[in-house]
Amino acid sequence: MTLQAPKGTFDWLPPRSERALAVREALTEPARRAGYGYIETPVFEDTALFVRGVGESTDIVSKEMYTFEDKGGRSITLRPEGTASVVRAVLQHGLHNGQLPVKLWYSGSQFRYERAQKGRYRHFWQVGAEALGSEDPALDAELILLAVDGYAALGLTGVRLLINTLGDKECRPVYRAALQDFLRGLDLDEPTRQRIEINPLRVLDDKRPEVQAQLAGAPLVVDHLCEACKAYHEEVRSLLTASGVAYTDDPRLVRGLDYYTRTTFEFVHDGLGSQSAVGGGGRYDGLSEMLGGPALPSVGWALGVDRTVMAMEAEGLFGDESAEARVRVYGVPLGTEARRRMFLLVTELRRAGLSADMSFGGKGVKGAMKGAGRSGADYAVILGDRDIAEGTAQVKDLADGDQSAVPLAEIVTMLKERLDK
Ligand code: AMP
Repeated sequence: MTLQAPKGTFDWLPPRSERALAVREALTEPARRAGYGYIETPVFEDTALFVRGVGESTDIVSKEMYTFEDKGGRSITLRPEGTASVVRAVLQHGLHNGQLPVKLWYSGSQFRYERAQKGRYRHFWQVGAEALGSEDPALDAELILLAVDGYAALGLTGVRLLINTLGDKECRPVYRAALQDFLRGLDLDEPTRQRIEINPLRVLDDKRPEVQAQLAGAPLVVDHLCEACKAYHEEVRSLLTASGVAYTDDPRLVRGLDYYTRTTFEFVHDGLGSQSAVGGGGRYDGLSEMLGGPALPSVGWALGVDRTVMAMEAEGLFGDESAEARVRVYGVPLGTEARRRMFLLVTELRRAGLSADMSFGGKGVKGAMKGAGRSGADYAVILGDRDIAEGTAQVKDLADGDQSAVPLAEIVTMLKERLDK
């Protein structure tokens, strides 16, 4: 058997791969328009970055990391998410010593050793945006709006926004203690009992029905917020409402990463089955300090490119791709000299800004014309020995079959005129 892609991974192939590129573009365009600059960090980092930054009690760190020792004996991990790397890079290069907030966006592969299923992969693609160094509810609202606008630009109508707040270092400990008291009284298995002691909020996120059933009366963070967190959250909500953004308050939304404080949010799509989250994010005021940096209150999100493409497919937002033109012009050379000339003509067409391809491998007229049809081109340019002798080529309109001889020197200008319309 030929080799297969590893479990939990898949290949993006044309033409579907174009969808992923278009989604990446559209989801990040609003951020770019709002002054976010592009950052590219390494695909692998020191393992310690994620252990400290994402948190040892999270599923990501405790069981999902691709960790290995490199030839120099360092513990290296393929990045499971983007935020920790962005904060590391900001601190390393002192970007936080300039104007705040530091606004950055990124795009790239993430790796998590997850139980693979539809919509949940071991290698997936995220785009992200982070605003570091400001505590301002308008910044939380801005980021949420940028994601909302990105989904809207793609034509998605089924994305719902859930928001919550997790409190801060004043009120979170009080809530945490109340939650622990409640959870300790429940009938839970040993690993979950341990989680109560390390990160009790994560127990709220447990998807098992037998656990969920017991959580009905669990204390909620909204009932334990300090005045500052309450006011902050009210302002975020009011800015969203004023901007016409619909959202649902979800007092149980905690998300799987340890570093979140105050605002948390998730975007879900109901056409995706169990893996319904298309994106999420929140405020992470303590992360910089967890990584050895100064206090740097920050907020950001990561949106899943794979799942966004699937959501668009579920909404039927893509047309018939087979009908989408890959190139506008297709060259059909017949004979050795014609191949040389066609190569140069196609090069000239491309340099003039037209998309063009040609038949390769010395195919006969039948095979080459089949290629022209498959390419989705509007025009075929056919060149045989007789045409060369006459200094012309046959230009065939592939839609209506009309064909005429055009002087070689005029083909580029003529096709440009017809196709630029
Ligand atoms: P997270 O970094 O866990 O907050 O995830 C942010 C977004 O990335 C999610 O809402 C998903 O759209 C996407 N995502 C996370 N994990 C996976 C995965 N294993 N496979 C595909 N997409 C994922």
